Amino acid sequence: MTNIFRCVALWWLWCGGGMALAAAPSPWTVTPYYVYPKDQPRIPAYETAIKKTVEEIQAWYKQQTGGSTFTLNPLVVIQAPDDYLTMRAGPRPSKRLKNLFSTDEWKKDPVRMGDPRFPNWLDSLEKAVGGYQDQHVAWIFAQGGAGVACAILQDRHRGWGVFGDWVLEPISGVANEGGVPARFGTWEVKGGTPVGTATHELGHAFGLHHPVSPTHTIMWEHTKYPTVGLLPHEKLALTLSPFFGGPAADPQAPSVDFSTADTATRGQTLKILGQGFVKGDEVEFLWAEGSVKVSPETIHPSSLVTPVPPDARSGVFRVWRGQSKSHAIPINIK
Ligand SMILES: [Zn+2]
Repeated sequence: MTNIFRCVALWWLWCGGGMALAAAPSPWTVTPYYVYPKDQPRIPAYETAIKKTVEEIQAWYKQQTGGSTFTLNPLVVIQAPDDYLTMRAGPRPSKRLKNLFSTDEWKKDPVRMGDPRFPNWLDSLEKAVGGYQDQHVAWIFAQGGAGVACAILQDRHRGWGVFGDWVLEPISGVANEGGVPARFGTWEVKGGTPVGTATHELGHAFGLHHPVSPTHTIMWEHTKYPTVGLLPHEKLALTLSPFFGGPAADPQAPSVDFSTADTATRGQTLKILGQGFVKGDEVEFLWAEGSVKVSPETIHPSSLVTPVPPDARSGVFRVWRGQSKSHAIPINIK
């Protein structure tokens, strides 16, 4: 992803110092954004639909976890500093991309995550919202974003998720003709998928992974929203997340990175990335039915290699130093 310092610098340049930045959101909250390109209209029906949808999803998570859910900030509406072409392709789009965008032909193929026709999209959204922040999730409804949908939790709980026209149009009933209307989509724009997509991407922004194998969870079958739920270990991970009121890391605990691998194998080893590991630190694996603490095989200040217990199941791990524990990090175990 884009270097965050560059994004913040660009934001300030664009503001020219004449516009106050919005106050930093409270830690451990989720902010929904409606972002629209500079050269496209702001669509009021999108704002109404987003407000309703985010509350619905907040309630869905509460029902799934049996009572806890995330804290939602008010919707933030942002006119992006860039026009639509720049947002998609950058300030100097190639001739090939310019030609491609000059007709509607490019919309006729599915336009999804990682699409080469949107090489600048994620960076431009990060810039539009003023950069992403630690201990916060930016949940971005992006006008013009077709079916591009992705999300992640990074660094020190810096979460973000984005999706586009194929969520906005189905939830509002209003097409954005300047973007990629839903008639160019197929299964992505039907039934429970649009709201399921926003729910699934938010799950990633809280640190949830796809399951190891296909199974019934919003993290796999988001097309089945709202009747599909969460797996027991996904509920465990959420209830241990500070975004759901779970425990924050103890001040004395080592810091563990979300860049640690998503999946580990029973009976093998897992390299955990972080900062400040010292001899004596222990790793706890927790799953829906149990937990176990193990001692790492090797310890470096920025990584430790731990055996993965043979009875461990998908869930979370955390690193302990005496009575102090790190955040719980979701992990798939196969
Ligand atoms: Zn996913």
